[in-house]
Amino acid sequence: MKEIDLKGCKVFFGDYSFLLENLLCGKKTVYLFDERVWEIYGKSIDPRIVIRIEAKERNKNLKTVQNIYKKLLELEADRYTYLVGVGGGVTLDITGFVGSTFMRGMPFGFLPTSLLAQVDAAFGGKNGVNFCGIKNLVGTITQPSFVIIDPGFLKTLPSCEWENGFAEVIKYGIIASKDLFETLESLPVSRLKDSDLITKIIYESLLIKASIVAKDRTDFGERRKLNFGHTFGHAIEMACQLSHGRAISVGMMAEIEFSRELGLLSKSDISRIENLLGKFGLPTDYEPFFSKALKKIKADKKKEGDSISIVLIEGIGRSRIEKVKIEAIGEVINGLRKHWLCVRG
Ligand code: ADP
Ligand code: ZN
Repeated sequence: MKEIDLKGCKVFFGDYSFLLENLLCGKKTVYLFDERVWEIYGKSIDPRIVIRIEAKERNKNLKTVQNIYKKLLELEADRYTYLVGVGGGVTLDITGFVGSTFMRGMPFGFLPTSLLAQVDAAFGGKNGVNFCGIKNLVGTITQPSFVIIDPGFLKTLPSCEWENGFAEVIKYGIIASKDLFETLESLPVSRLKDSDLITKIIYESLLIKASIVAKDRTDFGERRKLNFGHTFGHAIEMACQLSHGRAISVGMMAEIEFSRELGLLSKSDISRIENLLGKFGLPTDYEPFFSKALKKIKADKKKEGDSISIVLIEGIGRSRIEKVKIEAIGEVINGLRKHWLCVRG
């Protein structure tokens, strides 16, 4: 069985019910379930120890967190009770936040059920909720005790959610692995969803994330590579109500312009990236979203004074971080607009 260990957080691959039984060993447990996932997979779990949430991005807020705190009190949970989140990224972000703050922290584990959550949200220790229209503004960096990846969950995943997950996988390819990028390029989408292959792709993606996070457990250095497409993408997601995968797809295409402007990335590599995103049904034209998102880009929580880090792509599979003056982003955006006008006009 495959297993990845990231400084205390173990990620197990395999059948979730078998793994859960072994990991929890009868310890007191409360489950936090995505309502929809509960309807499909909840039959074997005692409903009295389940808190269900409507896992929508708009519910990822402090009000939902407070309701969960209240339910945990009703269930007489204490700091030795395990909180297990079952669902997509929204559910896991809330589970991590509640788990790391209730009674100053209780043990928590994740069962990610969407591709996006399996390749990204479940792993790395970041959690949080949205506040005042800014994504993940309030949160902590706390590792879950365990993550169980069971690709069997993906059988019921709607196709738009597959696309969202592949956006994140493509990101890993662009920033750190030409091999992964080329695997995605070379095989038909239906084949990539095949159980063995998707398990391999999830594993490769998590290895990339693990190696980056291991070099930098805060959010201030190497780890910023993982934000590729997200500085603009998060702003676009919040300002334009786009799904996370779609927003980071256009965010990646926009941020790539910095590498193009600096002459780091060839036209043909940019076309390959655009084609690969398009192959998974992801949008690539950022222009319709940009002006709406600009204010939020400037309010990004990762800014440092008057600067913000941008991920530069030096070739498919290679990246580095560069600081850009926030004011300059406005200028570059204007430059980009001109560039688009040139291309189209
Ligand atoms: P993310 O895309 O970050 O994982 P969500 O938590 O919003 O974000 O999950 C995306 C959607 O997919 C939600 O509507 C959720 O109910 C649904 N979902 C998650 N996992 C499954 C699954 N295994 N089968 C069916 N629907 C799922
Ligand atoms: Zn993401």
